Amino acid sequence: MSDITRQRVLEHCKRLYLGLIAQRLDGLLEDAAREDLTYLDFLDRILAAELASKAEKRVRMGIQIAHFPAQKTLEEFDFQAQPSVDPRLVRELSTGRFVANATNVLLFGPPGVGKTHLAIGLGRAVVAAGYTVLFVTATELIAALDKAQSEGRLAEKVAQYAKPKLLIIDELGYLPFEKRAAHLLFQLIVRRYERTATLITTNQMVTQWGAVFGDEMIAAALLDRLLHHSHTMVIQGDSYRKKEKRRSGLWTPPSESARQ
Ligand code: ADP
Ligand code: MG
Repeated sequence: MSDITRQRVLEHCKRLYLGLIAQRLDGLLEDAAREDLTYLDFLDRILAAELASKAEKRVRMGIQIAHFPAQKTLEEFDFQAQPSVDPRLVRELSTGRFVANATNVLLFGPPGVGKTHLAIGLGRAVVAAGYTVLFVTATELIAALDKAQSEGRLAEKVAQYAKPKLLIIDELGYLPFEKRAAHLLFQLIVRRYERTATLITTNQMVTQWGAVFGDEMIAAALLDRLLHHSHTMVIQGDSYRKKEKRRSGLWTPPSESARQ
């Protein structure tokens, strides 16, 4: 291939946004020559490589945009250590179908049982399935809505949080809300209802939500929206961290230490 043609191919790749082909042109050509590929096989190979590279980039960017607080994946989740989590349901959710259907997911359970881990793992899987995801803690979310309201920009902020196809609200109920904050959250949930999916992790069973929100009515209205189309998982058992420490002898459960 003449240098002029090579330059022109690179230029065309650039204008067509075929970054990977441009970057690997020489290697791809060498491989094709060595393997004696047909024209069709060559075209097939370079287009597949470009597509794979674009998909990988999209996922990388989607994960950045999602603002996950840690790197956790579903592959790292030990289902045997947590028998109250149904792996089939997790697998189904990881396809992202629930996001397409604007179905919510509620993960209930005490601290340390893997709620945030599952939420991040599912979030990543949903990004890979091609949807936009945003992760926030309930405290961050309420603070942002509260601030926006005091600055007269509430509608804008609600619209921003209404946008992602999946919004993950982590740690709902760790801190009780003021009634005003509960109203702010309610506005957002109403905006998302039946349009986009919301995944919530909480340490409070639904019977406690009235106390969390400081208002039984608003808690009931919120739950009504959230549970209408939803999957719920109630995770039980001991904190995974404590289990790990116990295995390594760093921690003994209170009942055992009392006996000692
Ligand atoms: P929660 O959000 O329920 O309080 P986390 O998801 O933060 O709990 O889990 C606490 C820690 O234990 C994290 O580092 C998490 O990765 C790990 N963990 C919890 N459950 C599991 C599990 N079943 N398999 C692997 N790691 C787990
Ligand atoms: Mg958590």
